[in-house]
Amino acid sequence: MTTRPTSGRSAFERGHLIAHCLLVESENGLVLVDTGLGLGDVTDPGQRLSRFFLRLVKPELHAEMTAARQIERLGFRASDVRDIVLTHLDFDSAGGLDDFPRARVHLLARERDDAARQRTWMDRQRYRPQQWSTRNHWITYEPREGEHWMGLPCVRALSGLPADLLLVPLAGHTLGHAGVAIRADEGWRLHAGDAFFDPREIDEHPHCRMGLRLYERMLDQDRPARLRNQARLRALHRAHPDIEIFCSHDPQAFERLSGRSSRVPVAAGDTGDPYRKIVRRPEVAMHPSIAREAAPGIEVYDHEVENIDLDFETLTPARDEEAPRQTP
Ligand SMILES: [Zn+2]
Repeated sequence: MTTRPTSGRSAFERGHLIAHCLLVESENGLVLVDTGLGLGDVTDPGQRLSRFFLRLVKPELHAEMTAARQIERLGFRASDVRDIVLTHLDFDSAGGLDDFPRARVHLLARERDDAARQRTWMDRQRYRPQQWSTRNHWITYEPREGEHWMGLPCVRALSGLPADLLLVPLAGHTLGHAGVAIRADEGWRLHAGDAFFDPREIDEHPHCRMGLRLYERMLDQDRPARLRNQARLRALHRAHPDIEIFCSHDPQAFERLSGRSSRVPVAAGDTGDPYRKIVRRPEVAMHPSIAREAAPGIEVYDHEVENIDLDFETLTPARDEEAPRQTP
């Protein structure tokens, strides 16, 4: 799904932004990382999205570009998606939740709480409760839990999901914002959500196009935290250039990784699509969910991961064991 905020060379030239979702095939079913905009947003944008963002980003609303329709083109059913991991609850990351009514949705507790409180005018524009019919399936995590992973703190596995899929808190864009690290066949990938908007922001000499920079600042909930986490991502990129780090909205990264234009849906039955990454060594352990005190209007299930052995040393392949890098 494409949006077109001002992001070109000048602040007034319209850019081309996408919502980069990942579909991971695990032993226990499909896992979707972020949902982009959904079918409900396509059919009733005026009711679901804020007038402010409809005007600002002018989303191109096409049903065939939604995650649900593209998953069906791959030969799956929407109900095959058992789990959704959200980087955050902005309308353009969480709009497709309703298309997967049976999926469990994993996110940081802070994101759920802030989105539900709707404290500021901007919160009410970006967070759209109209998109959250699945909220009784939300499973939330405390940001301070977890361990260090590749220099990033508080990284953790998720309930009932393989240990090669990790939630990486990256506050700033929102306070409950996180990235998602996935070990695919060719190595680790880090979907950094909206931790940066211009891929050059994690380069040695960071740069961001002016229009994108204005958009990024407008959406910051904690600018110093975002800059701190961008510095961490820059250090990670420098230390591990083999880890593919990409953000939600960069069409070039999408096209490089998927091998197709970001303006067309996936080809029907395309088994070679790199979206169908099989996570190696699935170590699935189910944990009972425990109902906890809920935020207003939201039923919450917090849970503990006790039995998953989070040994990041063994998850990191030794250099000489790494398969040769493939170009998608
Ligand atoms: Zn966002």
